[in-house]
Amino acid sequence: MDRSNEYLLQMDATSEKEFIDLKQFVLPLKVGVDLGTSNIVVTVLDQENRPVAFEMESANVVKDGIVVQFLDAVRILEKLKSRLEQRLNTKLEEAATAIPPGIMTGNTKVISNVVENAGFHVTHVIDEPEAAAVMMGIRDGIVVDIGGGTTGVSAVKDGQIMYSMDEPTGGTHMTLVISGAMELEFSEAEQYKKSQDNYQLVFTMIQPVMEKMAHITRSFMREQEGPIYLAGGTSCLKGIEAVFQKYLGIAVYKPQNPLLVTPIGIAMSI
Ligand code: ATP
Repeated sequence: MDRSNEYLLQMDATSEKEFIDLKQFVLPLKVGVDLGTSNIVVTVLDQENRPVAFEMESANVVKDGIVVQFLDAVRILEKLKSRLEQRLNTKLEEAATAIPPGIMTGNTKVISNVVENAGFHVTHVIDEPEAAAVMMGIRDGIVVDIGGGTTGVSAVKDGQIMYSMDEPTGGTHMTLVISGAMELEFSEAEQYKKSQDNYQLVFTMIQPVMEKMAHITRSFMREQEGPIYLAGGTSCLKGIEAVFQKYLGIAVYKPQNPLLVTPIGIAMSI
């Protein structure tokens, strides 16, 4: 992985709500919108791809790459846009967005329509795996993007995406396992999963799901070998890279904040 991009992932949610003085950045700003199964994320970079700010909200507005709650998606995105504009004291007019691999043209248009209806002019629409590969500076390897709903596997050769596949196993399935085992509501199980305090027990409960994700990865890999680059919120789990490495027997790299890899790559595409 291109280490020079690591600093981009240091954007920190704790700085949310802080006013940001744009004098230190090179304008115009670049905005990336990622509409995911679990989260809507908006990232802002400057012209030199330096991280400026991000906002995110969990949302159930997309399923299998299809926008199922159009108005809710627009409303959430409007809110995130407005929060960023207040923090930056500037209007954000243009944005790039991305589509998951293998969705139909009509659905691509719906994703752009959400972003346009929230008040952005969409200038670029790229593939999510391409955004992740660009952000991590990958020339050759396998990008494994583990989000809420899916595990996506994409092969990169000479900087180009050769193929992408995904299967509906993601962080949501881990949460469901925890919810069942601990008799917790889904939202409580989601919090439980993310808390470092519960790490040991969570790891034991979800190890089979991590192994299934590694198995999905191996089943999608063709002749091309790794290394593997992990992205997506579920890759935040401590130790998931070791499970993959053991299962696949090849090198696995995980950046500092995998959740922001694709959203930042989208903004970088401008
Ligand atoms: P998809 O890629 O399937 O469309 P998405 O883009 O919305 O979904 P992400 O935002 O990449 O998905 O990741 C969301 C998932 O990551 C959720 O299942 C969430 O529980 C999980 N997640 C986020 N942070 C953590 C964490 N610190 N530890 C464990 N899981 C996490």
